[in-house]
Amino acid sequence: MTTTTGQETHAFQTEVRQLLDLMIHSLYSNKEIFLRELISNASDASDKLRFAALSDDGLYEGDSSLEIRLSFDKESRTLTISDAGIGMDHDEVIANLGTIARSGTKEFLSSLSGDQASDAQMIGQFGVGFYSAFIVADRVTVLTRRAGTEESAAIRWSSKGDGEFTIETVSKAQRGTDVILHLREDQDEFIDGWRLKSIIRKFSDHVAWPIMMPIPPEETIPDEEEGEKEAESKADGEGEQKPEWEKINQASALWTRSKSEISDEEYTEFYKHVSHDFDEPLSHIHARLEGNYEYTLLLYIPKRPPFNLWDREQKDGVRLYVRRVFITEGSEDLMPRYLRFIRGVVDSSDLPLNVSREILQQNRVMSAIRKGAVSKVLGLMETLAKDEDESKYNDFWKTFGMVIKEGIIEDAANKDRIAKLLRFSTTHDDVAEQRISLQAYIERMKEGQEAIYYVNAENSAAASSSPHLEIFRRKGIEVLLLTDRVDEWLVTHLNEFDGKPLQSVTKGDLDLSKLGGEEVSDDEEKASESEEKEASSIDGVIERVKGTLGDRIKDVRSSARLTDSPSCLVSDDHDMSASLERILKEAGQDVPATKRILELNPDHPLMQVMEKESDEARFGDWANVLFDQALLGEGGQLEDPAGYVKRLNGLLLALSSK
Ligand code: ADP
Repeated sequence: MTTTTGQETHAFQTEVRQLLDLMIHSLYSNKEIFLRELISNASDASDKLRFAALSDDGLYEGDSSLEIRLSFDKESRTLTISDAGIGMDHDEVIANLGTIARSGTKEFLSSLSGDQASDAQMIGQFGVGFYSAFIVADRVTVLTRRAGTEESAAIRWSSKGDGEFTIETVSKAQRGTDVILHLREDQDEFIDGWRLKSIIRKFSDHVAWPIMMPIPPEETIPDEEEGEKEAESKADGEGEQKPEWEKINQASALWTRSKSEISDEEYTEFYKHVSHDFDEPLSHIHARLEGNYEYTLLLYIPKRPPFNLWDREQKDGVRLYVRRVFITEGSEDLMPRYLRFIRGVVDSSDLPLNVSREILQQNRVMSAIRKGAVSKVLGLMETLAKDEDESKYNDFWKTFGMVIKEGIIEDAANKDRIAKLLRFSTTHDDVAEQRISLQAYIERMKEGQEAIYYVNAENSAAASSSPHLEIFRRKGIEVLLLTDRVDEWLVTHLNEFDGKPLQSVTKGDLDLSKLGGEEVSDDEEKASESEEKEASSIDGVIERVKGTLGDRIKDVRSSARLTDSPSCLVSDDHDMSASLERILKEAGQDVPATKRILELNPDHPLMQVMEKESDEARFGDWANVLFDQALLGEGGQLEDPAGYVKRLNGLLLALSSK
């Protein structure tokens, strides 16, 4: 920072510079969105003042009208957006208009590709806000005064968007903020009253505050020579006495209007206003609830994930209003974490207006509202899932499924409803990328099949070649492939669905013998018949392996799972799964290693080789190799990889010299 005659010069945070650069270039074809963003900010600032004034009336400074004014001047080529909202003090200006405080920004910016078309889409998802002014302006001045502070404590912020901004203390009679855009040479359309009005109607008709524009100069004689020096001072008093300004938007909060009066475009624009997304939403629900408590909700499911979907600290989300007064946004008391991608508003008639954000937590009305709102959102998803066009829900699931799965863990009360929304890929995927519901799985179950089988694996390729699945493949039994990390927790909380237990293919003593209807070729059938005959002949091998592996294992037994591989490792029913253990270890947690059960394939030719092995040292090598292979086969890591290689090579040499 440098100071000359009371003027401070600051450098923008690196991320702001990057964003400005990108935005100016990639959003040009969408440039009029700057107006939506600036009006949104003015509207938010007015909301904030009204909320703050609930506990301190003095903030109104004797004038509680909260209009947003848009004016322009052809001579100086300026466009000014003024609000009488909360305003900003010195430090707030520096923090808000010099940095991007949102967490995840850095990661987001570095994910942009440099390709203008796709970056424009991505930036839209980020929400560009105030800085979008620089798409059309080569200089922006902000005059702002925090409500309730001295007139002389106002701040003038100015920048050419080139890496730095200046700040100086000035005087401002009216509280709130004027944003003055010095338009670029070729941006005449934004000093054209008709054009401006049409943009406002398109983007901001639903904004709850009146957006005013001066009646064209031919009809009145406003003296606007002063330009940016001072915002137009407002006429005193209420209502009619402002003939020189006209209201451009409807200025009634959209959600308070009846559904039949609202067009699809209006719903979409309102979504863009609350979400800062460029894209249209996937779906919405608008409802007035009148049970014990009265509230209105207008909630949206976005099409694309917000940029900070995985940031658990993020504060975006559903906005809470009490009788149209904005209270708070993104509160967990209103929407649980697993629905953090939902956008929109909830407006309650029953909460006290002066409710503090802290009280919300213990408020009974609030928990009733949350319950109702969650139920509506789940209902909206259920409707989507029923849509004839299956790709719609499938796309939705690909985008938000991982987050919704958290709901099984987080929201016990709605577990059954959420479980119906779950989708999984399976070993029977006929259509690539198509996922099925648990309901659909049950409908396709084999006769005599009693459990819903699943396998946890790093990815679907690893899952589908897992040795644990061999018998399932042979018998044509469908297995759910769980490849998301959250799945590990999901299955610890979802023990059954519709009366059918969820059963891991890597756990417990599998008995699939009751299952008929094998979908196998003749050859394979013969192979599986011989399975039975030789099943008991490896008892000797099993005993010797137990003796050799000793402490490394919990037990050794003959396998009913394997058809091709010689060995695999399984867990006892109530033990922690190996994949969960791996995840916890990677996360740095101190988990005691659970001993596993080694299963051997009685039908595998290696069993005969081992049976005949009289050299105990070499038998030991075989046992260890089979154990290590089982571990490798499920994606695990060997304790002693070099030892494994050495043993295996020794055995290969011994075999080839026979
Ligand atoms: P966002 O609105 O998404 O937070 P912006 O870049 O648009 O991002 O604005 C950054 C911050 O600057 C806002 O969160 C707000 O605190 C402040 N701000 C912007 N415009 C105004 C305004 N007209 N009045 C008061 N504060 C404002």
